[in-house]
Amino acid sequence: MTAVWELANPQLRDLAVYEPSKPIAETARDLDVPPGAIVKLASNENPLGPSPKAIAAMRGALENAHLYPEGGGLYLRTALADRLGLEAENIILGNGSNEVIEFLGHAFLNRGADVVTSAHAFICYKLVATLFGACTIEGSAPDFQPDLDGILEAITPKTRLIFIANPNNPTGSFLTEDKIDKFMARVPENIITVFDEAYFELLEDPPDMLRYVREGRKVVVLRTFSKVHGLASLRVGYGIAAGNLIEVLQKTRQPFNVNGLAQAGALAALRDEDHQRKTKAVVDAGRAYLQEQFAAMDLCFVPAAANFVMVNVRDGAAVFRKLLAEKIIVRPLAGYNLPEWVRISVGTLEENQKCVAALKKVLT
Ligand SMILES: *Cc1c(COP(=O)(O)O)cnc(C)c1O
Repeated sequence: MTAVWELANPQLRDLAVYEPSKPIAETARDLDVPPGAIVKLASNENPLGPSPKAIAAMRGALENAHLYPEGGGLYLRTALADRLGLEAENIILGNGSNEVIEFLGHAFLNRGADVVTSAHAFICYKLVATLFGACTIEGSAPDFQPDLDGILEAITPKTRLIFIANPNNPTGSFLTEDKIDKFMARVPENIITVFDEAYFELLEDPPDMLRYVREGRKVVVLRTFSKVHGLASLRVGYGIAAGNLIEVLQKTRQPFNVNGLAQAGALAALRDEDHQRKTKAVVDAGRAYLQEQFAAMDLCFVPAAANFVMVNVRDGAAVFRKLLAEKIIVRPLAGYNLPEWVRISVGTLEENQKCVAALKKVLT
């Protein structure tokens, strides 16, 4: 009999399945406690929840759940474009920004193509590259700071895409605009550079990558409603690029890829600046608290710019397990080749305090 694996595309054999963080419900069941007793600081979600205005808008949109949504999300794209000083033609919506990464694969990758990124980069770039039969080349990242010269040196004649997450998840490393400008001056003209800015709204001094879009450079900027807007469950993100690049990506998109509730929620969340401000304030205070505490505990961490901190606990898998028993979910990073580290998301003040207390307990 022919094995199904023999029929499947060969690159799928090498494809590791993305491992999401341990869910609250499963942890609560394992520990036999109510879900409300679990503190999840594992997926960089918004500790304040969704914008209340987004919840109200989604309730309204439920009434129209029998109708197909706006196919290309024109209202939401127009609202985003207004904010960014661009046109709707500069924006494509995805079922999460992760789907836009897949669009890039459909549009530009093939067997034999290369993708360049840095060591410990967000894992989805490699997953999508593998899915399309492309190879991923990783530049070095000494001290977890991506070496942009190393990325330039890693470029091959077959390189189609460069992925840079800024800040990078899980390391938290952040690249300043002047470093990126020097890099962009040297990127070959025939390569598309993708800047993943999932945490853009939380940054103190965000670099202006949209300038490259306006200049018509081959740059795609990714952003999302999963983080500052607190809508991770809805799956809505977007890519920003020059019109000719978005036109190519639009060909790869299934109709109705972003559902109607997500479009309504995102549109309302975008207008809820109060919720965005409150979120940033909680994240700023929580990040400072966690870093202070880690320093006081003599733990090595990468100074963070967004809503998560990567901290060295010697044995990430063991500390992850011990924290679970304390009803705290964090992210172990062995899958990123960082076995000594865990990534801890910034929560509410109370959640951060519980996490630090549990960490002190399990480390002694
Ligand atoms: C969280 C995150 C995203 C968001 O992905 P969505 O599919 O929009 O939820 C994208 N990139 C990075 C680097 C992230 O950390």
